[in-house]
Amino acid sequence: MAVEVDLHLHTLASDGTLSPTELVGLCAERGLKTIAVSDHDSTEGLQEAYAAARKHHGLEIIPAIELSTDVPGSEIHVLGYFIDTSDTAFQQTLTRFREGRYERGRLMVEKLVELGYSITWERVQEIAGDAAIGRPHIATAIVEAGYFKYSRDVFDSLIGRNGPAYVERAKLTPEDAIRMLRENGAVPVMAHPTYSAVKSDRGDVQSLEETLSHLKSHGLEGVEVFYGDYTPEQVSYLNDIADNLGLIACGGSDYHCSGNPDEPEPGSVGPPPQTVERLREAHHRIRGVPVSGS
Ligand code: AMP
Ligand code: ZN
Ligand code: FE
Ligand code: FE
Repeated sequence: MAVEVDLHLHTLASDGTLSPTELVGLCAERGLKTIAVSDHDSTEGLQEAYAAARKHHGLEIIPAIELSTDVPGSEIHVLGYFIDTSDTAFQQTLTRFREGRYERGRLMVEKLVELGYSITWERVQEIAGDAAIGRPHIATAIVEAGYFKYSRDVFDSLIGRNGPAYVERAKLTPEDAIRMLRENGAVPVMAHPTYSAVKSDRGDVQSLEETLSHLKSHGLEGVEVFYGDYTPEQVSYLNDIADNLGLIACGGSDYHCSGNPDEPEPGSVGPPPQTVERLREAHHRIRGVPVSGS
């Protein structure tokens, strides 16, 4: 089903494989009216995305970010919408996160080499270019060397959370991420809150409703509902939770142009247009209200 809003998209600024220009062109072609460019730990793709959107009159770009946080046994990703990219303290923190990604990538490649995979850190860096380095770049190097067909298989066998070459990143809690986003004026939203079949690395968040309710008390404003490959049952389950807790029901394709089979495409899934207005209202409220630490 075609939608007009897609609030979760990646570019070459992190682990997507399309340039911002290519991504925006594809989204315009697919009939999208509002998109969020939400790279991991980087807002570097946004300027180019705005420039490309000017050529597609009427396509709105929401500046966004995706932060990874750790909870016991798994991760929670927190999206931030309407980021103020000129906030220097915020940008300095993102730079630190990207440095952490670099170091962790290097250690993962070391482990892979020890396990007998003939890849190099230099090649992974070449693949990543200027991007915030992520596991998909490492997966690409392994696929390129002929060990597996799809990067998803590399996650399944080697670099998933429980894989032999996995290395943890510096810990950030979801509460920290929410505070960091609100201090910037951005609207915090929990990403992909439950199991996704195409991202086999990803499990369920434990006690989802309690977790969301707790994070709401720390300033969480929304949760992804209309996400990626979620089934109608998953969407309806999450929509009920969002309704019960008064969270904004968000979502998008989480498109990376990864080459994995069954990857949801931009415009194939997303929230209704009212979601964008609710996020905008939340953004205005957050900007106008002093941040309270709890
Ligand atoms: P990182 O941020 O380096 O920990 O890498 C996480 C990213 O890897 C996610 O944001 C997805 O883009 C991608 N990813 C996670 N699990 C899988 C999977 N099973 N198959 C393919 N890509 C995945
Ligand atoms: Zn990603
Ligand atoms: Fe994510
Ligand atoms: Fe994502």
